[in-house]
Amino acid sequence: AAGESTVDRALTAALRLIEENEDTLGRLDAVAADGDHGLGMTRGMRAAVAAARTCENPAEQLLAAGTAFADAAGGASGALYGVLLAETGAGLRGDITAETLADAVDSAVQAFTALGKAQPGDKTMLDAIEPFRATLRTHTGSGIADAWRKAAQAATAAAQETADLLPGKGRAARLAERSKGHADPGATSFALLVTAVGDVLG
Ligand code: ADP
Ligand code: MG
Ligand code: MG
Repeated sequence: AAGESTVDRALTAALRLIEENEDTLGRLDAVAADGDHGLGMTRGMRAAVAAARTCENPAEQLLAAGTAFADAAGGASGALYGVLLAETGAGLRGDITAETLADAVDSAVQAFTALGKAQPGDKTMLDAIEPFRATLRTHTGSGIADAWRKAAQAATAAAQETADLLPGKGRAARLAERSKGHADPGATSFALLVTAVGDVLG
């Protein structure tokens, strides 16, 4: 049933990897901001997993997960990840193929940028999300699992490269210089999430 669905396995794997990295995410967020990103992510993902288990199909599971994540995580990234999850769910319809998944991710990223208003290069989650979105789109011909894993690799590389950027959005923008040489916490958590999901796909 719902407890054995792909979305459940994906969110559960993502929760596990986030829990393993809670301290790392917190320390990264403490470099130039308030240090709560690890705690927010574990709280949010626990709520997302529980909420998804109450639903039957992937679209409803992701919608419920996003709403629960935003409520439980709080903060800037809580609202932003909430929209990303919920809008991915809202964008899924009919048979899920690499194409329809890429379409759903496109519309979720549009909703994300409409809410957060970050530009590429502002040293935010967007700097890992946009390469993920673009790489997923490029590889739809090779199937969901392969396309997703290529996109996750692109997100991981891009998250590491945010170390060279200066924050232009969010809390860290005020102490931007301090963050030099350190990756953005939100970009790092996004790379972890999509990597964990890629590991459980077909
Ligand atoms: P808060 O800053 O409220 O404490 P978190 O620490 O959980 O929230 O999340 C911080 C992360 O949120 C940043 O590392 C960045 O990736 C992301 N972020 C913050 N503001 C924005 C924004 N306007 N657009 C995109 N991402 C953002
Ligand atoms: Mg924070
Ligand atoms: Mg905070």
